[in-house]
Amino acid sequence: MEKTRLVEKDPKLRKDDGIVITGAGGFIGGALTRRFHDQGFTRIRAVDKKPLYEWYQRVPGVECLSLDLSNEDNCRRACEGAVEVYQLAADMGGMGFIERFRVECLRSILINTHMLEAAYRAGARRFFYSSSACAYNTQLQQDPNVRALKESDAYPAMAERGYGWEKLMSEMFCQEYWAERGMKTSIARFHNVYGPNGTWDGGREKAPAAICRKVIEAIDTGTGRITIWGDGTRTRSFMYIDDCLKGIDAIMHCDDLIATPINLGTSEMVSINDLVAKVEKIAGVKLKLEYDLSAPVGVAGRNSDNTFIKQMLHWEPNTPLNTGLRATYQWIKEQYHARKKGQRVVE
Ligand code: NAD
Repeated sequence: MEKTRLVEKDPKLRKDDGIVITGAGGFIGGALTRRFHDQGFTRIRAVDKKPLYEWYQRVPGVECLSLDLSNEDNCRRACEGAVEVYQLAADMGGMGFIERFRVECLRSILINTHMLEAAYRAGARRFFYSSSACAYNTQLQQDPNVRALKESDAYPAMAERGYGWEKLMSEMFCQEYWAERGMKTSIARFHNVYGPNGTWDGGREKAPAAICRKVIEAIDTGTGRITIWGDGTRTRSFMYIDDCLKGIDAIMHCDDLIATPINLGTSEMVSINDLVAKVEKIAGVKLKLEYDLSAPVGVAGRNSDNTFIKQMLHWEPNTPLNTGLRATYQWIKEQYHARKKGQRVVE
């Protein structure tokens, strides 16, 4: 018989409670660190494997540690005194990375297993895990006009090889740390997050950033053309970073969502061709598109069914793609031109 665990009410989170954010040298972890800092939290520990000078954002007043969290001792060090842990560290990137480096993606299981155990031993009250839409059954994503994915579509399981299976397995760890050990865990399945301060070059970037960069480059060099991965018909939804941060906070602090995976994404599905057209419009150009059919492209279509999040939080990510893209394009343009002048930039 299924047992329902009694959810004890937490004491109110104090501004000097210990908050640990991992993957904080990267895109979402960096933005989350800034958000907590701006909200007045005073004991934030930000952790990432990268050396500090490579972090996308360094927030003043935050304790920043460069630690490899696939190592158990480092996870214990990271979690000392933690009240809440936000686990965003993962070896990941866009399709170009996750299709080529499945071993690296799978090895993120070490980070998640050690971080969960370390958070539990440190007596952390809550643990947030950043899962992904790549955990969904790929057989349900074989058409560009796909039905949006609802939370139950992860099973029967046939996740994206490597990255998606690691996410699914780590979700299960989170669920069992709650069921067996009583640590409150929260699991959000992110759908493509984009925005300023994300990866925009170097091989790990995702479609919105890559397209912005290519358009900026085409204008700057005067080629008048860009190369698109695939035939442009694949569909996805894209969530702006501000919505992602708001969703993380709301999901983490909702007692009805403990150990319950939930979509965190928009339901505004567009094709890659649509995305390119939007960026062209922002840039004020029309370019010749060349399609590289041998490039990694992932599933044919993917969208987020937001019925559950609307029911639970009375909210869903809602920044219009045009608005978020405009801010992202502007930021990448600044980075591009700063790099050209020889200045150090985030990539
Ligand atoms: P990111 O690559 O910008 O950040 C991840 C960070 O983790 C990097 O800075 C990296 O150095 C760090 N890291 C990797 N291995 C580590 C290790 N062994 N020890 C310590 N740090 C390590 O990626 P992001 O876009 O900020 O993603 C954050 C999380 O959200 C990840 O778990 C990712 O899988 C998940 N996610 C992101 C998206 C998206 O569209 N960005 C979509 C779905 C899920």
